[in-house]
Amino acid sequence: MADRYLRFTHTAPGRFLTRRLGLPEPAALHRWTPEHPTLDGELAHLTVGSSTVAGADLAAVLASTGLPVAAAAADPAAVVLDATGVASARGLAGVHALLHPVVRSVAASGRIAVLGAPLSATDHHQAAAQQALDGFVRSLGKEIGRGRTVNLVRIAGGARAAESTLRFLLSPKSAYVSGQTVEVGDSAQAAPDDWSRPLAGRTALVTGAARGIGAAVAATLVRDGAGVVCLDTPRARDELGRTAERLGAAALPLDITADDAAERIADAFPDGLGVLVHNAGVTRDRRLANMPSERWSSVVDVNLSSVLDITDTLLKAGVLANGGRIVATASIAGIAGNAGQTNYAASKAGIIGLVRSLAPRAAAEHGVTVNAVAPGFIETRMTAAVPLLIREAGRRMNSLAQGGLPEDVAETTAWLAHPASGPVNGQVVRVCGQSLLGA
Ligand code: NAD
Repeated sequence: MADRYLRFTHTAPGRFLTRRLGLPEPAALHRWTPEHPTLDGELAHLTVGSSTVAGADLAAVLASTGLPVAAAAADPAAVVLDATGVASARGLAGVHALLHPVVRSVAASGRIAVLGAPLSATDHHQAAAQQALDGFVRSLGKEIGRGRTVNLVRIAGGARAAESTLRFLLSPKSAYVSGQTVEVGDSAQAAPDDWSRPLAGRTALVTGAARGIGAAVAATLVRDGAGVVCLDTPRARDELGRTAERLGAAALPLDITADDAAERIADAFPDGLGVLVHNAGVTRDRRLANMPSERWSSVVDVNLSSVLDITDTLLKAGVLANGGRIVATASIAGIAGNAGQTNYAASKAGIIGLVRSLAPRAAAEHGVTVNAVAPGFIETRMTAAVPLLIREAGRRMNSLAQGGLPEDVAETTAWLAHPASGPVNGQVVRVCGQSLLGA
């Protein structure tokens, strides 16, 4: 599971060899730790043209990142480029003019967040300019290197609605999220009393939480104050028990494909559930021509059908209600496709369909948001089972030239589960280091 190549490139002979041979040089990413929770350095706040967001609100939100904010900074740890006011192709010159001089000096593991506006349905010049930001961000993410990330946030309402999103994207928590566009709506949202324990008083259920990404998600939600229930198959009972005990969480051994699984989950939360994380997933790879029907259905049953059944039951029973959060797990395989994974990719693309269709209705009818994370190559037992050469290609074929960690998916999930993330709904956020596979 360990990425030996990454470790090797951080030794003196490794550095020498990779440079001589022109091999990828993955940066050591700055990830969140209690001792090192913010980026190191200043935040440069730049604006192109006339912003469409209220300046005072945006200034307050940027200050909340804990970074000193300046109009110009020598070696910024983060750059926020407010491009919400760019409404014409010629206006894009301002994006170049402001970022060209600073891009080289952004610190290693630094962040660039470009703020955009929703695309106008009536002004195609504005829509062209705003969509241009998307291609700009994706390209800059591919060339910037040194563990630096570039993302675009489209703000429909005020900056306050984007506070949880900007705090996340401008922190070490988003180390493996790059080249993404996130849309933030204008619905009202509640700021938590304590941003360091935003889920205090809430319950969370994480499926597939005995190990891997699910265990990391459970740990992160516990850190954020939630009372967590870890669910996994009865077969994984021992590992589940150990994980739950280590985290101070409760264990629920249950196969999510069991006929009564949704009802049993509903019964386990008589006082309601704040956060539901659909993380359990399986692969049974084989090319379609060689795939027996049970391989197909076992994957679709776990990864998609049970997710739909549990979601429907918990919403209908009111177990998930006002302020509730659903975070489902897709995959870049569901976006780009993968040979040998027709079953898996179909199930993960299905998750994206579920999110897009249900999100607006779940918000309107139940006050619940529905989003998905789409992991790329994450170092877990699932990817340790991939043959060596494919594994090595999967690790390197992204803008950060390394695999992600379960914690990267967990931090992204925690942001989507945040009480202040109500305006973030119907989003599919890739946690893939900007994988070269897919969009
Ligand atoms: P993993 O195999 O390490 O863990 C998955 C967990 O789900 C296991 O503990 C397993 O027992 C549990 N599970 C499986 N079937 C279940 C069922 N019927 N009922 C209850 N629990 C069940 O996998 P992981 O790498 O941690 O992946 C977690 C999620 O992330 C999965 O949905 C996976 O498809 C997705 N994902 C992973 C990667 C990656 O690179 N690891 C990439 C993209 C997406």
